[in-house]
Amino acid sequence: MATKRTDSQIFKDILTPRKRKTAEEMELLFRDFFNYIGDSADRPELADTPYRVIKSWEKLYGGYAENPDRIFKLFKCDDNNELIILRDIDFYSTCEHHLLPFFGEIHVGYIPDGKITGISKLARVCELFARRLQLQERLVNNIADEIEKRLCPKGVIVTAKAQHFCMTSRGIQKQKTKMITTATRGLFKNHERRTEFFRMLSL
Ligand code: ZN
Repeated sequence: MATKRTDSQIFKDILTPRKRKTAEEMELLFRDFFNYIGDSADRPELADTPYRVIKSWEKLYGGYAENPDRIFKLFKCDDNNELIILRDIDFYSTCEHHLLPFFGEIHVGYIPDGKITGISKLARVCELFARRLQLQERLVNNIADEIEKRLCPKGVIVTAKAQHFCMTSRGIQKQKTKMITTATRGLFKNHERRTEFFRMLSL
């Protein structure tokens, strides 16, 4: 009778040979990790945990595999100097200093210069840069730079508000603290346009 293949084996079968070898080496590292924190790598309940963690990385760090060339589709628009905002884009990212999550919302605004893009594309570019090892300070700049590069707008502004596990679960353990970061390009360097953006967010 054939033995039943585990989820871990099924998962490894679909990886490239190189990735499969790395995944197997990672599993050994997890054994050291379990022992290091005081648990036991031989505890049967932990047998499939390395596989589940490695599999979850496909989503958590999926931004590395995304190609920004395939995200943006551009449409022509009237040149009216008006502000377009996509707000409350929820995101989940990982702090590169502690490998702990930080998560919250991103708001994106831009003033087109004859070209717009589908709103889901703005959310996708946020996802592309959030699903990597990140710093919140850099995240907003990555998004602003990418939109500027693809759309060549008159201005772009990106702001993020997030809770950081490295603040809440360790270190200083401040539970309600949130960090806000902003990146501005072009016309949003102008105080009035920036104020207009934040006023519209409060609607
Ligand atoms: Zn951190």
